[in-house]
Amino acid sequence: MLKINSAKRSLWRPKKQINKDNLLPWLKDADIFFEQCTQCGDCLSACPTQIIVKGDGGYPKIDFNLGECEFCSKCADICTQPLFLDTRLPAWSKKAQISESCLANKNIYCRSCSDSCEAQALTFQLGISALPTINLDLCNGCGGCVAPCPTQAIIIKE
Ligand code: SF4
Ligand code: SF4
Ligand code: SF4
Repeated sequence: MLKINSAKRSLWRPKKQINKDNLLPWLKDADIFFEQCTQCGDCLSACPTQIIVKGDGGYPKIDFNLGECEFCSKCADICTQPLFLDTRLPAWSKKAQISESCLANKNIYCRSCSDSCEAQALTFQLGISALPTINLDLCNGCGGCVAPCPTQAIIIKE
């Protein structure tokens, strides 16, 4: 099979702006990732929640619409390239953010996000239409609240 060195691979990097919100956990640096990831797909197969998909140019990325990150580190462990930090460190600094499309803004009762948050980072004040509040100290950016939200109101961002 044709071998492509990292310098040439970096020339093939997707030209549009990098969306850092979709990058894998524990990555050292986005530039190192796009230069040295071989797009082998091993991390896709290793991920127990199957949230890693092929993104632009074949590079792996996270899709929280498919599930949450369990911080199992299997994606980092299986990778043979020097892309990842020590997985005993925090995986990333992403946190959940809630947009205007939350049903509470229409006075519709919904607790799907808080029901799905194992970290108990999402809470509601008393009152049916109260907006969810995110405790940023508790939120670890796992993305578990994204798919259950019926209005796609939640994104996970740096
Ligand atoms: S840490 Fe585990 S659950 Fe999270 S993306 Fe990597 S393999 Fe998937
Ligand atoms: S799941 Fe979505 S719509 Fe429901 S309360 Fe949470 S953010 Fe709002
Ligand atoms: S990203 Fe995870 S920890 Fe943060 S609010 Fe959503 S479910 Fe809870």
